[in-house]
Amino acid sequence: MSMDVDAVVELFRGIAGEIRSGLDDLDDWGFSGGHPGQYFHDVVADEIAVPLLLDAGLGVISEESGNEGLDRPIVAIVDPIDGSTNASLGIPWFATSLSAIDSEGLLAALVCNQATGVTYVAARGLGAECDGVPIKPSGKSALEDSILVFNGLPSKYIGWKQYRSLGSAALDLCGVADGSFDGFVDFSSGLALWDYSGAALICYEAGVTITDIFGQELLLNSLRATPSSRIQLVAAGNKTLHQTLLDAVEV
Ligand SMILES: [Mg+2]
Repeated sequence: MSMDVDAVVELFRGIAGEIRSGLDDLDDWGFSGGHPGQYFHDVVADEIAVPLLLDAGLGVISEESGNEGLDRPIVAIVDPIDGSTNASLGIPWFATSLSAIDSEGLLAALVCNQATGVTYVAARGLGAECDGVPIKPSGKSALEDSILVFNGLPSKYIGWKQYRSLGSAALDLCGVADGSFDGFVDFSSGLALWDYSGAALICYEAGVTITDIFGQELLLNSLRATPSSRIQLVAAGNKTLHQTLLDAVEV
């Protein structure tokens, strides 16, 4: 009686829309007084998403409210708002990230820019799209021609043409999936599962090479193997560029 992939995607679309409506009504985009760094918009978005996911029969792993129903056949991984600081500053680069994992791994994902409504969706084996249009990465292979997007501060110049640092890893990775950027490197202390799991499926389905900073495949093939700690990611729309980035940031 598990939901099929289309039903999961539709559920995610509905939740992203409900969160957008909830944010429209929000007056205070400041700190909530909850855990350090938690804003009111994080809480509002989480309080919308989690009950809808549980009611639909999914388990939940949420950045804001923890785990529930992990014994269910499909578990949703929820970042209610990725880029919360951008949201508090009115910078239109923050997103809801939702992904679903079943016994075979990542099943479906949605990353929705809540400032613009631009929505990325992927389903396992069925490709990735942005606002209904199939996406693919740039395919650019030369670092000196590349526009990279960073999470955290690069420790040195590694030879890029240009770079951006925009503050929402989920949207940054989707920007690699749709060819806006040529590669992504995480120079921070690492990303949590909810930051990257949705964008990871969108990257895989678009044809992006995405690994941890050691070149290891992401362990998202089952809930049992899902990492609980933070990891640094490297992604590129071209295998040559991906290897160049791994070599350049060698750890
Ligand atoms: Mg968040």
